[in-house]
Amino acid sequence: MRTVSEAPVRAAELDRLTAEWQGCQKCALARTRTQVVVGSGHPDADLMFVGEAPGYHEDRQGAPFVGQAGKVLESLLGSIGLARPQVYIANVLKCRPPGNRDPQPDEIAACEGHLFAQVELIRPKVICTLGNFATKLLSGQPHGITRVHGRAQPRRIAGVDLVLYPIFHPAAALYTPAMMDTLGADFAKLPELLTGVPAAPPPPPPIPREAPAPVAEPEPEYAQLGLF
Ligand code: SF4
Repeated sequence: MRTVSEAPVRAAELDRLTAEWQGCQKCALARTRTQVVVGSGHPDADLMFVGEAPGYHEDRQGAPFVGQAGKVLESLLGSIGLARPQVYIANVLKCRPPGNRDPQPDEIAACEGHLFAQVELIRPKVICTLGNFATKLLSGQPHGITRVHGRAQPRRIAGVDLVLYPIFHPAAALYTPAMMDTLGADFAKLPELLTGVPAAPPPPPPIPREAPAPVAEPEPEYAQLGLF
C-alpha cells in the first residue's frame, strides 16, 4: 500500500540512483555512449514502459523515446487519455549500443539490476514491455512478442506484484503502418488493467422495431362466393 509520505522519499532515491548511474562502467557500452539514459516520467507512476535501449536521439538528449518512436508512444498514450508525465519510461539498457545494434546478453546481464531497482522504487501496477528484449527479460520466458503481445501476465518483479503486459515496440509502426492498429487495440486494454474496472461494454444493438402484424390474406373471391 502506497502512502503519501513514501512518494517523496522514493522519488529522491530514484534521483540519487539516476545521478549515481551516470558514471556506470559495468559494461563495454560505457566507452561508446554519449550519456546514460536512465528513464523519465512520474516516480510514482502506476504504468511503466520498458523499451529496449537508447537510440541516436536518446543518447544525445539523455531521455528515452524522444525520436519518432516516442511520438508514436505519445499518440497511443493520448488514445487512452494519458500523457507522458503520468507514466514512467525506461529501457532494458541505459546506454546506446553502437549503430543501434541489438543488446548483447552480457550487456543485459550487467544492466538489468538498474531496471529492477527502478521497478522496486516506482512500484507500478502495470509494466508494459515494448518489444522482444524487455518482454523476454521481465517475463523470464523465451516467447517472442508476436506470440505474447496483448496478453496480461501476473508477475512478481523486484518484489513487486504487478501485471506484465507485452506489446510491440512503437517503432514497429514506423516500418509497418498497419501495426498501429495492433498497437491501438493492445493499448485499449490498458485502462482496465490499471483500474481493474472492465472497459464499458459496447452499446447493445438497437432493438428491432416490432414487426407489423401480418395482413390477412383476402379470401379468394370464389370462396366468398360459396362456389365450393
Ligand atoms: S548499459 Fe547499463 S551496465 Fe552498461 S554501462 Fe550503461 S548503465 Fe552501465
